[in-house]
Amino acid sequence: MPIKNFQGDEAEGILVAIDGPAGSGKSSVARVSAERLGVVDLNTGATYRAVALLSIKEGVPPTDGAALARIARRVELDGERVSVDGDEVPEGALRTPEVSAAASKVSSNPELREVLVGVQRRAAWKARAEGGAVVEGRDIGTVVLPDADVKVFLSASAEERARRRASQSGREDEIERITAAIRQRDKQDTERAASPLKPAPDAVVVDTTSMSLDEVVSSVLALAGRVREGA
Ligand code: C5P
Repeated sequence: MPIKNFQGDEAEGILVAIDGPAGSGKSSVARVSAERLGVVDLNTGATYRAVALLSIKEGVPPTDGAALARIARRVELDGERVSVDGDEVPEGALRTPEVSAAASKVSSNPELREVLVGVQRRAAWKARAEGGAVVEGRDIGTVVLPDADVKVFLSASAEERARRRASQSGREDEIERITAAIRQRDKQDTERAASPLKPAPDAVVVDTTSMSLDEVVSSVLALAGRVREGA
């Protein structure tokens, strides 16, 4: 969809960065916001998950930066599709608890991050030229797209995030284990030296603990609307 800038000329599409911890609602917010804006939803976590999946399959230790970077060069992100060696990786294979835990571990590696940031930027620029994208991750506003038009950082209490994860997957009886896993991932993501999880100085921080999905999406759309109107 071509975007008009305030002078009525066709401009490149909008880039909306949505960052936040596991279970903050990022993926749902990004998906619905992208649908409503008529742009692509780029999920950068899927690229870390793809590397994690391959590292498990190929027996690469999560500390071997050079080998992880080599794996990362085989990963591509194109719109909602993640592929390895040109073959699409099925969503289900990326979403297992084993891959989630491994993704969080491998992602602390700077050599791997450098390669994946390049993969993600290329995907975002391509999407921007084709109308725009909502790009979700941990370091989109700070590192991947510091010039994004809109930056939103979603937060929510660990208990609420665990509750959402458990009800999404029908694992309400495992709430304690899920809360512990979320706290562990938060710790790894916020304490790592390479691109720790934190809001960009110019990000709008939205605490979603007691907000509905619709309410959060409305705030993202309001921010995007201001950019599109050239305000
Ligand atoms: O968002 P998702 O939970 O799928 O991401 C999986 C893991 O990838 C996260 O736990 C995080 O460690 C890492 N990640 C990252 N930077 C991003 C996106 C994800 O470090 N931009």
